[in-house]
Amino acid sequence: MKTNPDCIFCKIVAGEIPACKILEDDVALAFMDIGPVAEGHVLLIPKEHYETISDIPEEPAAAILKKLPQLVAAVQTATGSEGVNVLQNNGTVAGQLVPHVHFHIIPRNPGDKFEYNWPVGEYPEGKMPELADKIKKVISRQ
Ligand code: AMP
Ligand code: ZN
Repeated sequence: MKTNPDCIFCKIVAGEIPACKILEDDVALAFMDIGPVAEGHVLLIPKEHYETISDIPEEPAAAILKKLPQLVAAVQTATGSEGVNVLQNNGTVAGQLVPHVHFHIIPRNPGDKFEYNWPVGEYPEGKMPELADKIKKVISRQ
């Protein structure tokens, strides 16, 4: 199993540092976030060390994502939250502090303190299909 001795989440997987665990199988682990954006904030991670989402092979990715619906439902029911955000940051520029892939499951309620800027933009003529073609070409080469 790919592991990184300097990684805080690998240390949690190995039981070297404590975590408040929610669920665990061969591939995935979910535990309480130590610095919750809202009470009930949970992290879902692969047990293997992958830095970003694009590093995870298809099978472990599927095995982790399989856990999301039940986990989100459980967090929402247990906290009684009105909604939930599932967030996943890749790269420092995107707000990733811990370089081991993780999904944030964050309960949301009216008037809570969690805000983010969602700057809705607009494409210049022709740019959207041009970019779509570019992305499709990359996928076809993968
Ligand atoms: P990110 O900024 O997306 O990399 O998020 C990293 C998250 O990991 C933050 O929400 C931290 O509060 C959380 N975190 C860091 N160390 C621990 C730890 N030892 N146990 C639980 N959560 C942690
Ligand atoms: Zn790790």
